[in-house]
Amino acid sequence: MARVLFAHGHLLRFDRKQHAIGKPYPPLATITAAAYLRSLGHDVALYDPMLDDDTRGFAPALARARPEVVVIYDDVFNWFTKMCLGRMREAALAMIAAARAAGARVVVSGHDAADAPEIYLGAGADFVAVGEAEITLGELLAGYPTLDAAGGVPGLVFRERGMVRRTGPRALLKELGTLPIAAWDLVDVDRYRAFWRERHGYFSLNVNTTRGCPYKCNWCSKPVYGNTYHTRTADDVVDEIRLLRERYAPDRLWFCDDIFGLKARWLMPFSERMATEGLAMPFLCQTRADLMTAENVAALRRAGCAETWLGVESGAQGVLDAMDKGLTLDQVRGAVTRLRGAGIRIGFFLQFGYPGEGWPEIEKTRNLVRELTPDDIGISVSYPLPGTRFHESVKARLGEKRNWTQSDDLDPLFPGLFSREFYRRLSRTVHAEFRTRHALRTLRGLVATPSTVDRISLKALSGLAELPLWLANTALLHAQASRSRQKIVRGA
Ligand code: SF4
Repeated sequence: MARVLFAHGHLLRFDRKQHAIGKPYPPLATITAAAYLRSLGHDVALYDPMLDDDTRGFAPALARARPEVVVIYDDVFNWFTKMCLGRMREAALAMIAAARAAGARVVVSGHDAADAPEIYLGAGADFVAVGEAEITLGELLAGYPTLDAAGGVPGLVFRERGMVRRTGPRALLKELGTLPIAAWDLVDVDRYRAFWRERHGYFSLNVNTTRGCPYKCNWCSKPVYGNTYHTRTADDVVDEIRLLRERYAPDRLWFCDDIFGLKARWLMPFSERMATEGLAMPFLCQTRADLMTAENVAALRRAGCAETWLGVESGAQGVLDAMDKGLTLDQVRGAVTRLRGAGIRIGFFLQFGYPGEGWPEIEKTRNLVRELTPDDIGISVSYPLPGTRFHESVKARLGEKRNWTQSDDLDPLFPGLFSREFYRRLSRTVHAEFRTRHALRTLRGLVATPSTVDRISLKALSGLAELPLWLANTALLHAQASRSRQKIVRGA
């Protein structure tokens, strides 16, 4: 059996936007893989630099764990790690070099390594695990101290006699109950709790209930699960929540699934058990507007749902159709009515810059936000992730830059109608307008019922300060959009 050190290169500080949001979660995918190897008898440890300033703690972690194998394992469940930012890749490559220098064998698993295995192998990794990696790791390490049986283990890329070699594809796990509960004991949960409490006054932990998504939005990268969708049993999930509550007492949960509660036959018994066993607690999840039927919304509420994030993307039906989103704006309106009726907060993920979107479509998106007044919005610019149909469609036009340095770069990686400066200004303007209008609604509510004043409403009022930015930027945006239109008319 091997001594294995798990590590990852996802530091909150590496992502300016996420650091400002300040909602870090333990690396759940990483500790799930660690739990699986431990169940096979391996000795596992974790280097988790999420809350560190840099990765200088890796050398002491190596010295402490004296691993024979280092596994650099991206937390693919964490939404801000899905996009590999340049600094995260650099951190992983530096850790590979340090691990090799310490005499360990190195395996890497993650979206970026799967997309560009040569880079990681070139930095000294022995293997890149492509696809769902737990079973691959288990089979690879079954031969430890020999790791040369790689040819017989599906899901690996490695070098042999100077050539990059791939084994066959790794079949996906259909029964997620095969995996043990994540190795929460490896995480310094107190450190996360302190961070959350200081920033937000509460503490949230993450839980995963499914893997994959059966929808086909053509910009969405699903390198591991494709269009499959596998679910843990409701009983397993409830048991894990009970354990988390007993051991760590989180105030809230985040279900980090791409789509939470897609199947009503799963959601109903889950919410029933949560309610009847006294486990219902506030949670946040991502879902789709078209799944928000009256029954599903009621079940979410029963289990404690406090906030849902919907992939609304655009207020222009033509753009949604071009994305293969499979969603209508009326479905979005219906979902908002039902969620609001149940007292569940609503966040919209919005996306600008998809091919075919011009100024009129941008205005439609802004109008939709004004009409539906979600409680929060998140804005990005269409990002061609490798392996997607969207990426294929713009591949020939991609510039030299293939990765963002920050998740708020908002830099279109292919030439489009508008510049990076335009999208950055657009994002700032939409946010400023959103916060100003939110502050004005809050102010009206407080004037009507002063007794409702609380920390949240007082914080919302600070949005009034964004009024000048909103107004000034709106004028500049119109001028920029008009210049672009003139260029198009002139054929420039
Ligand atoms: S964007 Fe959401 S709904 Fe669409 S394919 Fe991706 S995970 Fe599924």
